[in-house]
Amino acid sequence: MKDLQLSGSKQYTVGEAAAMDIYEKISTLSQKMEEESVRIRRDLHKHPETAFLEMRTTVIIEKHLKELGYEVLTGKAVCKEGERLGVPSPEELSLHASEVLGQGISEEDLTEEIREGYTGVIGILRCGEGPVTALRFDIDALGMNEASDMEHRPFREGFSSVNRGMMHGCGHDGHAAIGLGVAKLLMEIKEELRGTVKLIFQPGEEGGHGAVPIVAKGHLDDVDYFIGNHIAPTNSLDDGDVTPGTYGSLANTKYDVWFRGEASHAGGYPEKGRNALVSASHAVLGLYSIPRHSQGQTRVNVGTLHAGTGRNVIPDTAKLEIEVRGEDTEINDYMSGQAESICKGAAMMTGCSCEMKMVGRGETQHSDEELWGRIGNMLAEHCPDLRVSSIPNARNWGSEDISVMMNRVQSHGGLAAYMRTMTDMASPQHTVRFDFDEKVLVNGIRVFASIVYDLNGRQYENTYIQRHDTDHG
Ligand SMILES: [Zn+2]
Repeated sequence: MKDLQLSGSKQYTVGEAAAMDIYEKISTLSQKMEEESVRIRRDLHKHPETAFLEMRTTVIIEKHLKELGYEVLTGKAVCKEGERLGVPSPEELSLHASEVLGQGISEEDLTEEIREGYTGVIGILRCGEGPVTALRFDIDALGMNEASDMEHRPFREGFSSVNRGMMHGCGHDGHAAIGLGVAKLLMEIKEELRGTVKLIFQPGEEGGHGAVPIVAKGHLDDVDYFIGNHIAPTNSLDDGDVTPGTYGSLANTKYDVWFRGEASHAGGYPEKGRNALVSASHAVLGLYSIPRHSQGQTRVNVGTLHAGTGRNVIPDTAKLEIEVRGEDTEINDYMSGQAESICKGAAMMTGCSCEMKMVGRGETQHSDEELWGRIGNMLAEHCPDLRVSSIPNARNWGSEDISVMMNRVQSHGGLAAYMRTMTDMASPQHTVRFDFDEKVLVNGIRVFASIVYDLNGRQYENTYIQRHDTDHG
């Protein structure tokens, strides 16, 4: 191949020079998407939806992807039937569906499956032979109320939540907007791509509800490269704009626990009652008494306790929402095993019954050095204005159900990376005043599209031969 002299003393091949033009094009196109991605982000921010209620969000993403020409999957084609964890009640689902109809969504848009809470969208771009690359964007909101005063920009500028008890307090509105920007950009450079790109818009990340049914449906089984990203605050551990890989999210299990006893007159016949509130209280104290584990970090939390019906009635029901976490899956299994025996034991002490329902889970995750190293090098070379964090494999102390997807990809020899992109935040994530600097949208679109080009670009057909291209299938 003929060499070209482009700048300085470095020699570039014709292929490399052409590839550099594409990175340039990606950068220019992503800049042009700023206004549109801010508009999409703000619309989603105004209409936040929690796990499996992302009905409006799903319809909007589906429409965008179809307009762009993607092959689009929704409903039970995304989440496997019977595998969703923590699905809202039929009453909550239908109430939310009726609310969504007043928010610019039509009856025909809202299919039966979406109404049943089969939310989430997968967009597929097929470009012939080559690696399968999947990107994951989570789309759900948190169950909390957003601040409503003039100090809070989303309220001041008219895009704060109109859905009571729901708020985009973690930035998934931004993730979805980035995903749609990436979708648009990839279509513009489609001719330069090979292989398959899957854009996974995942419901129910908060609480670990949504990854399991998508994995169960098999969407990760043929994936060679898998990348996810979370926006994160500047001035955190990371010292750059992009951290190409993280590791160590805590494995976790979330339960709803019901204690059921027998109501009775508190003054007349207290001995005839079986007190579910007392059961639950014993359980709470017991859960916080689980011994620590010598091999790693553990967490336990009882988030809610609801019990009883009136002052002079022996409470016949109590419900706890609890979670346990562990540094790895084994330590988390220890914590969940302990939690189960404690709840059952507490019920036995007061003659009540105990039912535990697992409503969410996540595993521990590890980004592959081979992939985050490659992403870091590509960014340093082709996006030199973005600073790559000097701790490229940063520790992650939260929990993330992306772990379930990563582990599935890695189990068949694929490579996975979970990145962070940094931006200024008005207040920490999961707080009522959360908001972020929207410049991260353009950066996110550019970074993801550049990664896809690096992995699936035709220019690299012969220059980058990954073991996955040859070993897979
Ligand atoms: Zn989040």
